[in-house]
Amino acid sequence: MGGTFDPIHYGHLFAAHEVMSGLRLDSVIFVPAGIPPHKRYDGMAAAAERYEMTLLAVAENGRFGISRTELERPGKSYTLDTLKAMGARYPGSDFFFIAGMDAVLEIATWRDPFEISSLCTIVTVQRPGYDKSGLENLPQGIKGSLRVIETPMLGISATDIRNRVREKRCVRYLLPEAVRAYIEKNGLYAGSETKAAGG
Ligand code: NAP
Repeated sequence: MGGTFDPIHYGHLFAAHEVMSGLRLDSVIFVPAGIPPHKRYDGMAAAAERYEMTLLAVAENGRFGISRTELERPGKSYTLDTLKAMGARYPGSDFFFIAGMDAVLEIATWRDPFEISSLCTIVTVQRPGYDKSGLENLPQGIKGSLRVIETPMLGISATDIRNRVREKRCVRYLLPEAVRAYIEKNGLYAGSETKAAGG
């Protein structure tokens, strides 16, 4: 499961669990993006901090794991490189790349999207307010390896959590308590957030 996880919250954990049960996967490995290729804002927590928060969150479930591959690889975190690294690490496994709908809607703009779809099944979960009709416009070669999992949806968003922290509003019950305590202890998301140029 790939994502920026800034911060990880119960929406991500719930979606991961739904996909794991729905597709009968053995486990879900969370892969925090080192340097996300499509960065959208300044003020993002450091990769090491996002990794540590994700590590705290996945500790709650014995079938959840975490990978440092995107933190250890220099340069932007391309999914293709991650899938190749996973293939070498777990030979003979079937891979499912899980990501949020708005990320998957842009997959045709990623590096080598057709090779990505040849290496895994791409899985996305529908969230409130997201219209999945845009997926119909993806090239046939990508659509063929795409699965959309319909779940009772949780409207929790990392952006909302960061805004709440900045405004000193409560974030309890939106994310694991250990992650909330980490944010507080390390003073994350206190400064203002501005949109960054894409790329
Ligand atoms: P992200 O910000 O982590 O997620 C994109 C959106 O989907 C956010 O609104 C996020 O919500 C939501 N989301 C995340 N997980 C979800 C889930 N399981 N169910 C429903 N919604 C979910 O996305 P990103 O970091 O840009 O990209 C996601 C993955 O795609 C990463 O692994 C990234 O490396 C990869 N990617 C690869 C390329 C490339 O190879 N060129 C380009 C772009 C992205 P929150 O804001 O609440 O987290």
